[in-house]
Amino acid sequence: MKIIDGKQISVEIKKEIVEKINSDLNKGIREPHLAAIIVGEDGASKTYIDSIRRVCTEVGFLVSIYQHSPTVTEEELLSCIDFLNRDDEVDGYIIQMPLPKHISMEHVIAHVDPKKDVDCFHPINYGKLLLGEAAFLPATPYGTMELLKRSGIQVAGKHCVVLGRSNIVGKPLAMLLAEKSEQGNATVTICHSHTANLKEICASADVLLVAIGKPEMITAEYVKKGAVVIDIGIHRIPDSTTEKGYRICGDVKYDEVAPQCSAITPVPGGVGPMTMVCLLLNTMKAAQLNRKE
Ligand code: NDP
Repeated sequence: MKIIDGKQISVEIKKEIVEKINSDLNKGIREPHLAAIIVGEDGASKTYIDSIRRVCTEVGFLVSIYQHSPTVTEEELLSCIDFLNRDDEVDGYIIQMPLPKHISMEHVIAHVDPKKDVDCFHPINYGKLLLGEAAFLPATPYGTMELLKRSGIQVAGKHCVVLGRSNIVGKPLAMLLAEKSEQGNATVTICHSHTANLKEICASADVLLVAIGKPEMITAEYVKKGAVVIDIGIHRIPDSTTEKGYRICGDVKYDEVAPQCSAITPVPGGVGPMTMVCLLLNTMKAAQLNRKE
């Protein structure tokens, strides 16, 4: 059984990013610049933004954080987006979700310049993804595909079962796996909370990709012997036996499932670190595309 080391692969990608930035700097091309908009004090969002700041600094990106209070109006937020759309020094930006209830997510996303939409939330970019013409890919599905590629796992002709159909993970991941492309060409089944015979369908998968947001729900009986299991879920659950009082786990019961897989991603250290580096790759692409205009 092979453990797919997302942490190590993300380190390799970061090295490649640093090399590219240094080579561009030598040619007089400035560093990529990523901005992030955050509203409110949500703990998980702040942790994510902190890691964006840390990773950007580590690879040599410029990074700007626009922190707004939870009472910011939709108009104020849209004018911040306008400002970033106009700023030639910013290549791409993200807006950390969830937004407070008084702000329309649809209005906000529609306002983003698709050329700077490195989270791939804008309908134009999402549509291009479905057409196989994507400029950017949503970071988590992108990271998952990169992980498979760099681990030498081919999905072509295989039965991939994607558990979960969210707009940011399950649905785009299923599209990428099924895409007529070197990395795709899989036969894909998408499962969700209304799927009948879930266990049987999962147990028929050559590659099982799990994004359901249910800690350790996927046990050994969901997994065929020799299957590849990609666990996208991430949870912090209370555990009084650890020093911190919690432990991190995925949607898959790792200890039980791992022995019967041919390859599996751990949590933490699997898909998680790939999401961040793929956001960096999208920003580099945005910088390159915007320079060409
Ligand atoms: P969502 O809650 O948006 O979607 C969950 C999906 O799973 C839905 O399609 C839902 O079905 C389905 N589902 C829920 N319960 C069941 C069940 N019992 N049986 C079958 N299907 C079920 O979650 P996300 O897609 O945003 O995230 C999924 C997981 O991935 C989470 O643990 C999240 O923390 C993690 N994540 C990790 C990232 C990373 O970088 N590693 C990044 C983003 C997310 P239905 O549509 O019918 O409701």
